[in-house]
Amino acid sequence: MKNQVSQKTKVFLIGAGPGDAELITVKGLRVLSQADVVLYDHLISRELLTHAKEGAEKISVGKFASRHTLPQEKINTLIIQKAKAGKIVARLKGGDCYLFGRGGEEAEACDDAGLAFEVVPGITSALAAPCYAGIPPTHRDCASTLAVVTGHRKKGDDRPIDIPHAGTVIFLMSVGNIKNIIRSLREAGYPADTKIAAVEHGTCYDQRIVKGTLGNFLGIIKENPLRTPAIFVVGKVVELQDKLDWFSKKPKILHMGNHPEHYSHLGTIVHRQIIRCIESENTNRAEAYFKQPKPYNWIVFTSRNGISFFFKKLYAAGYDTRIFANTKFAVIGKASGKRLLEYGVKPDLTAATESSAGLLEAFGKTDISGRSILLPQAEVSSVELPDGLSARGAECDKLTVYKAIEQGVDEIDLDYIDKILFTSGSTVRAFVNRFGRIPKHIEPLCLGVPTQTIAKQYNINAKVIDKDIM
Ligand code: SAH
Repeated sequence: MKNQVSQKTKVFLIGAGPGDAELITVKGLRVLSQADVVLYDHLISRELLTHAKEGAEKISVGKFASRHTLPQEKINTLIIQKAKAGKIVARLKGGDCYLFGRGGEEAEACDDAGLAFEVVPGITSALAAPCYAGIPPTHRDCASTLAVVTGHRKKGDDRPIDIPHAGTVIFLMSVGNIKNIIRSLREAGYPADTKIAAVEHGTCYDQRIVKGTLGNFLGIIKENPLRTPAIFVVGKVVELQDKLDWFSKKPKILHMGNHPEHYSHLGTIVHRQIIRCIESENTNRAEAYFKQPKPYNWIVFTSRNGISFFFKKLYAAGYDTRIFANTKFAVIGKASGKRLLEYGVKPDLTAATESSAGLLEAFGKTDISGRSILLPQAEVSSVELPDGLSARGAECDKLTVYKAIEQGVDEIDLDYIDKILFTSGSTVRAFVNRFGRIPKHIEPLCLGVPTQTIAKQYNINAKVIDKDIM
């Protein structure tokens, strides 16, 4: 049997889901994270690619409606070449691999080349986009059959679109051909008052629904030109949309920090990581400290990053926590306390409110006069805390252990964003540098008072949300 030529499966066709990165299957994510080479389509969420293993080769073979970055034959050849070179290949495809995705052709090419392959099904946009739009494709009251149709044929194939008779008809790849499709539906006997809905960018933060009837839809989309990708749902089920719409009710929140998973209960998190924290080069003081850590009475941490980078440098210098037997530790909040515990140290003081003022308050009646305090922090940090501690007689030394750097982010359409969540002063600065002002319709939120204070400096009037939600 020819598939036994290769003992180890080398090619995995993976359905990546329709857009929302969380809609990939558990199996798809595992296989993706084990692959040596990832070949991905244009519609694949960038977020998913971050799950590829370190050093994996990522190749865009992006397919666009009218323009293929790579012709299908070349994609097939590339898959085979990489697999024959001994690589595990993940071919990441939008939605489901086998529904209008030419996945069948790619599997055939593997088989022809004597390569074993596996297919991981994905959630198709044909079902996910209506679901996020509030349209169940079937319903006992009005639709007991469902047809999924492509509005786009092979080049040179001029046959009219197949119009099935079904309770609900869902069209993919049809935006450019919608005029003909509506005409064909009418000719096939669908009345002019049949409901139709377009779902653009289904399951994504910028999903939009445009509704009408076969009679008036062309007029409606003339006023509201459609974006791609989009699907069309035709049938009585569209009437349920008003009632069952759930996704558009969730606020869309732009988050530019590092931990989108902490905030998902607030709404749909749109993650664009604009700040990356990296270890800073040692200053003279840091060099001296890590060479031979001087004993301090207190070490005070104002962020989780400060803790991680401090211990990273400490371990790299050949020390561990045993040197802190006579040192006390203070942290700015519960989350930092949790991080410190990961290094085997229980904080002696935890600020009740997450701010420099909160930390100063936490020191309360503790006598710090003449005490030495080390503050491992970011390169840019506020002076409120060291000034406050010094005012109470402490001898403070700031130790720079990391810095926040700005990085480019994928495009974002702010028209579809309801709120922006700033998680640090650096995210505020980076946002302003990249986008300028915050559009009026967007509500700014800040995690903690220090971030709000920086926002104020940029004339951003933001509400503070509690860090304990994390
Ligand atoms: N295999 C894919 C479909 C590939 S064909 C799947 O199962 O979803 C490409 C077509 O899919 C597009 O023209 C569009 O009609 C539809 N599509 C893909 N992603 C979409 C999305 N997020 N929202 C709406 N339609 C989408």
